[in-house]
Amino acid sequence: MEKRFVSTRGQQQPVSVKTAVKQGLADDHGLFVDPKLGQKKVNLSKLLLLDYQDLAKEILQLLLPDFTTAELVLAIKNAYNQKFDTAKITPLQSINDWHILELWHGPTSAFKDIGLQLLPHLMKFSLGDNEHSLVLTATSGDTGKAALEGFKNTDNVGIAVFYPNGGVSTIQEKQMLTTAGTNTSVAAITGNFDDAQRQVKAIFSNTSFKERLASNLHLSSANSINIGRLAPQVVYYFSVYQQLVAQGHITLGDPVNFTVPTGNFGDVLAGYYAKSLGLPIKKLIVAANANNVLTDFFETGIYDRQRPFLHTVAPSMDIQVSSNLERLLYYKSGLDSTYINQLMTQLETKGRYQISDELLHSLQNDFYCGFSNDKDIRTAIKNVYEEQGYLMDPHTAAGYHVMRKYQQQDQTLMVLLSTASPYKFIETTAPAVLPDTEGITDSFELVQRLAEYTNIPIPQNIAQLHDLPIRHKNIVSSEKMQAYVKQQAEVIFNV
Ligand SMILES: *Cc1c(COP(=O)(O)O)cnc(C)c1O
Repeated sequence: MEKRFVSTRGQQQPVSVKTAVKQGLADDHGLFVDPKLGQKKVNLSKLLLLDYQDLAKEILQLLLPDFTTAELVLAIKNAYNQKFDTAKITPLQSINDWHILELWHGPTSAFKDIGLQLLPHLMKFSLGDNEHSLVLTATSGDTGKAALEGFKNTDNVGIAVFYPNGGVSTIQEKQMLTTAGTNTSVAAITGNFDDAQRQVKAIFSNTSFKERLASNLHLSSANSINIGRLAPQVVYYFSVYQQLVAQGHITLGDPVNFTVPTGNFGDVLAGYYAKSLGLPIKKLIVAANANNVLTDFFETGIYDRQRPFLHTVAPSMDIQVSSNLERLLYYKSGLDSTYINQLMTQLETKGRYQISDELLHSLQNDFYCGFSNDKDIRTAIKNVYEEQGYLMDPHTAAGYHVMRKYQQQDQTLMVLLSTASPYKFIETTAPAVLPDTEGITDSFELVQRLAEYTNIPIPQNIAQLHDLPIRHKNIVSSEKMQAYVKQQAEVIFNV
């Protein structure tokens, strides 16, 4: 196996991509990257007639070089099948003068299914004989359920998800607590998301705790820092380009812009990877919510996380450190891991860093960034539904508002990425569209009312949710998380 993946911070020996998938984060806390990204380009005209699965194989062979073709084919077949409610997997919708790519047709109705349906299979092929992996995930909602669905019943892999007690929506909580599978574990943590996240990170860096686990048991992560979760997201940029050509909106080779609702910078970074592989993308529009660290960064070159953390109506984008930005800086600085290490050290110690003007200009060539506050989001949901009959979830709506602003200066064909079903964030979508929701507090009733009013079908997983039995009922205080993880490892792997 070719040891070609290095850490963005340069302090770890190169590893094979399988080790990178198994390990998640590098030992120096950097992210795994392939310095050769983009040296081999795809042949676009060859891809035009492929279905999603064959397209995925072509793209992933370039991004994940150590997996055999047979492994990739099997992983793709097990990930992208009838669990999605459309054979296109990521269908393009065209509405009047704009285009939207729906990424939420998978088993949990959020775009995270695209990465998290494939990652478990990649992880299984990365483990040696007799090795086990326990995936630990702190979630503010969408990642938890998508990870549980992806990893449930995967051989030799277990999954433990932690979410802040009272800190996720009713539907998100019910989705997680009703997960079946013999290797799944879900617990509510007393405290907020940051507490849960901090505890999970503490477990990862606690060597003596890891030594007390069985010697063949690895801890891993399902966060989008894992290259095995990022790579599958590159595929849908090619898929939508193919759909645009097939439907006659563009001809092969024409440039396209994308607007991407952004939190941890995984989804939009996948767009940059697609561009590096040769997809004719002109600009990537990064759309943030009121937590607008990125907007300031792309304007000034100063990344400053020292600001209040806001809870918005697009909670999956409530984030102050967009981890995957580190990968972009690595590539854009000309693979300068010493420089990245300096910047990230400054972020940890001072809460901010400033990049060089040269690097900023290079970023601005490929990216534009804007943000939407809660009012912009609610207005966009309402207006687009009333005027154009299309219903967006709040994250997609955050993107829509930024997209319209950007389009005043650039008329290149634009695709907006839609990251969740509108039914998943019913507390925001229903009141924005329905004439009267006062006094209705039950989320499932809001789902029914919205469906009756709009005639837009409810995704099956959400429609069935109300009647599913609760299978997980653990509440764990954050101090007891380590003991809980050890116990779950023993139960899942029988060790
Ligand atoms: C995770 C998520 C995002 C943000 O994606 P990143 O890859 O973290 O930038 C946007 N919308 C929804 C619905 C999400 O679940």
